[in-house]
Amino acid sequence: MSAFVGKYAEELIKNAKYIATPGKGILAADESTGTIGKRLASINVENIETNRRELRELLFTSPNALAYLSGVILFEETLYQKTSDGKPFVEVLEENNVIPGIKVDKGTVDIAGTKGETTTQGFDSLGARCQQYYKAGARFAKWRAVLKIGPNEPSELAIQQNAQGLARYAIICQENGLVPIVEPEVLTDGNHDINKCAAVTETVLAAVYKALNDHHVLLEGTLLKPNMVTPGSDSPKVAAEVIAEYTVTALRRTVPPAVPGIVFLSGGQSEEEATLNLNAMNKLDVVKPWTLSFSFGRALQQSTLKTWGGKKENVKAAQEAFLARCKANSVATLGKYTGGSGGALASESLYVKGYKY
Ligand code: 13P
Repeated sequence: MSAFVGKYAEELIKNAKYIATPGKGILAADESTGTIGKRLASINVENIETNRRELRELLFTSPNALAYLSGVILFEETLYQKTSDGKPFVEVLEENNVIPGIKVDKGTVDIAGTKGETTTQGFDSLGARCQQYYKAGARFAKWRAVLKIGPNEPSELAIQQNAQGLARYAIICQENGLVPIVEPEVLTDGNHDINKCAAVTETVLAAVYKALNDHHVLLEGTLLKPNMVTPGSDSPKVAAEVIAEYTVTALRRTVPPAVPGIVFLSGGQSEEEATLNLNAMNKLDVVKPWTLSFSFGRALQQSTLKTWGGKKENVKAAQEAFLARCKANSVATLGKYTGGSGGALASESLYVKGYKY
């Protein structure tokens, strides 16, 4: 049987295509309460609702920045929050032609009998939650699956579990009007070379697209959020042009042209590195049937967070830092970024060993 065409099919296709508009990308601001706590702790700010809301308000009301975004991924708490003037965040985004999205997974758990491999939780009442989120204005969703590279990893069990999980999540989203972002993240941890990362990424993506087909997912109404293909975190770095060549090759071998957009995660790269890599991919002179854009979390927020430091008097400067990153990544989706946006803060490595969202 071919793809499922439910009552939302046209809307799913339209929204996925819009999110993949060249020149625009996604801000991943969907850190769970625990994860945002780590970010806030790094600037000595207490993890309470008011502070989480203030950070998100700073981002969403940043003058001119939303013009470079087509979507923002929210955590459930943020979906229902308002600006200090009482305007729902969802309205602020919609007024600026930015589609609100929602993280629907509930984090990862270890798969017994493996060396720390994981599967993603969140299937309980997923359909009902998607319906509620749709009512609240969300039109796309995110579910993060995680694979790791080791001597014997990823195992066949982890690959299959995560591919099936992503496909089941994707079809439940589509039945309820949300465009699923399919995110199989191959972690950068390890001392492997770029060839190993390429081989694993291809195997994982091939399994994911087989599962999406088996589950009748309408690919035109989805987006892919993959890792870039890079050497492991404990191996020497390579040039952006090399990362671009390997990443685009892996994607060309595995991702059908029916998918409108591929929006990368930043995975611990510095802000500047992530932008330069995205730019190099868009400059590559080969057929790319999908838009290549960004869905960065850390690589869009780090210098903003550091500049803000939780202080009202820094909000303006922090918003300028955010605008600089949004603009740089927008230009990178067109392959026209020449580098140097944001200075030293933008080049700080964001890699954390064994990072847990
Ligand atoms: P990073 O860009 O910080 O890797 O996060 C993106 C994301 O949303 C991961 O699920």
